[in-house]
Amino acid sequence: MPPRKRPTGATIIAVANQKGGVAKTTSVASLGAAFAELGKRVLLVDLDAQACLTFSLGVDPDAVEESIHHVLLGQAELKDVVVECEDGVHLVPSSIDLAGTEAVLLGRPAREYVLQTALESARKDYDIVLIDCSPSLGVLTLNALTAASGLIIPMPCEMLSHRGVGQLLDTVADVKKILNKKLKVIGILPTLFDGRSNHAQEVLSDVGERYGLPVLSPPIPRTVRFAEAPAVGRSILATSRTSKGARAYRDVAAALVPQL
Ligand code: ADP
Ligand code: MG
Repeated sequence: MPPRKRPTGATIIAVANQKGGVAKTTSVASLGAAFAELGKRVLLVDLDAQACLTFSLGVDPDAVEESIHHVLLGQAELKDVVVECEDGVHLVPSSIDLAGTEAVLLGRPAREYVLQTALESARKDYDIVLIDCSPSLGVLTLNALTAASGLIIPMPCEMLSHRGVGQLLDTVADVKKILNKKLKVIGILPTLFDGRSNHAQEVLSDVGERYGLPVLSPPIPRTVRFAEAPAVGRSILATSRTSKGARAYRDVAAALVPQL
C-alpha cells in the first residue's frame, strides 16, 4: 500500500528537553536518516545556536550565509536556506546568528508563531519535519512546540536525567492551553542506555509510569560509534550501518511511521 498522504502535508515533530547532552541532536540526525531510508521526505530544522545538527550533517555553520535565524526574522524564505545533505535529508541550517534571534523576537507580536508560519509553505514538500531544539525553554523552543503536532523527549536512563522533565511537561501543558491545542507528547525516547546496568533498567521501567507517558522502544544503546559520526558529516546510520545504535534508531523510526 502506498504511504497515506495527508492533505495538510508533513507531520511536524519537535525533539526537546531543556537539558543538554541527552542526545536530542543525535536523535534528530539518526531518526531523520532512518525515515529517509524508509522512503520518507524528511526536513530537519536546527533550532540551536550551537548548530551541532548543522555541523554533524556536514555543513559548516560558519560558512552558512542564511540560516533559520534569517527565516525567523523574515529576512529569508525557508525554501531558500534549505540544504540537501548526504544522508538523504534536507536541512534548515543554524548559525551563530541564532544566538541573537530570541532577543529580537521578544519585541514582536505573535513571536511564538513565526516558525509555524515559516514551515507552512514547506509542509507540502515533506512527509516529516523534525525540529532539533536548544537546551532551554525559551522563545525558540516555544516556537518549536507551537509548530509541532508531536513531541519526542530524549532522556538518558539515569536518575538525574529526570530533573527538569516536570518543568518541560508544565511548559507543554501551557503551550497546549494557549498556543497549540494539537500538541501531543509522542513519548520519551530512552537514550544512552546501558543494558548491563541494573540502575538503567530500573529507570527505564519506571519512567513511563512516573510521567504517564509512552516510552518509545527500543531504548537507544550507549555506544562509542555515536561520537565518531559527526566528524564525517553523516549520521551513525551511514557511518556504522549495522551497529546496534543504528539498528535501534531504525526500529524506533519504523515503529513511529504508522502514527504519523
Ligand atoms: P543534545 O543535543 O541533547 O545536547 P547530543 O545529541 O549532542 O545531545 O549528544 C551529546 C553527546 O552524547 C554527543 O557527544 C553525542 O555524540 C553523544 N551521544 C549521543 N547518543 C549517544 C549514544 N547512544 N551513545 C554514546 N554517545 C552518544
Ligand atoms: Mg543538541
